[in-house]
Amino acid sequence: TLSKQQIVVWLTRCGDAFSAQKDFLTQLDTEIGDADHGLNMNRGFSKVMEKLPAVADKDIGFILKNTGMTLLSSVGGASGPLFGTFFIRAAQSTNAKQCLTLAELIQMLKEGTEGIVARGKAEPGDKTMCDVWWPAIAALEAAADRGDTLPQALDAALAEAQRALEGTIPMQARKGRASYLGERSIGHQDPGATSAMLMIQALAAAAR
Ligand code: ADP
Ligand code: MG
Ligand code: MG
Repeated sequence: TLSKQQIVVWLTRCGDAFSAQKDFLTQLDTEIGDADHGLNMNRGFSKVMEKLPAVADKDIGFILKNTGMTLLSSVGGASGPLFGTFFIRAAQSTNAKQCLTLAELIQMLKEGTEGIVARGKAEPGDKTMCDVWWPAIAALEAAADRGDTLPQALDAALAEAQRALEGTIPMQARKGRASYLGERSIGHQDPGATSAMLMIQALAAAAR
């Protein structure tokens, strides 16, 4: 299982990753966007980290909801509402829980991603963060079916997320700012998909 403490470690590791990768993410967004994605994510997760100590003794749903609300109010652009919605929706099925089984973790990530889709209407191949979330969740489900432990399943999901992230390079963007570039969006890694991979990397590390 994944404990509440590990959820807190996950979010802390996200904060560390977005601080360390800020310039890289902004560079990616310079190529196909408006050069603010790293700044957006770092601003949001810095705030999340600031607020974590005050909520760390609450249940998982409360912590995730707080994270989503913080991202919603502190991150601008497309990614703030989308990642904010991800955590707010992820909070619903984890309400009052102190730990998660692999099945519950999968449910949480699925509902979070459904929240992103409900808001942003992304379809597979649109070159968005969902092009990492969907295959990573499918890998988790396959891992659960073959009886992997939760840390093993997350390692498999991370490997799939990294593959899927590379898969965004040849895609033409059909959502968000990058879609304004049309065919010129081809040949660049999607910034938001990179952030989704970093979040899965942080989760896999927290579970080990
Ligand atoms: P903005 O484009 O408003 O400056 P960011 O740069 O922070 O916002 O985030 C851009 C990222 O948001 C993209 O790389 C993409 O992954 C994601 N994104 C944009 N629109 C959508 C959408 N409709 N659905 C899912 N993800 C999206
Ligand atoms: Mg941007
Ligand atoms: Mg912007």
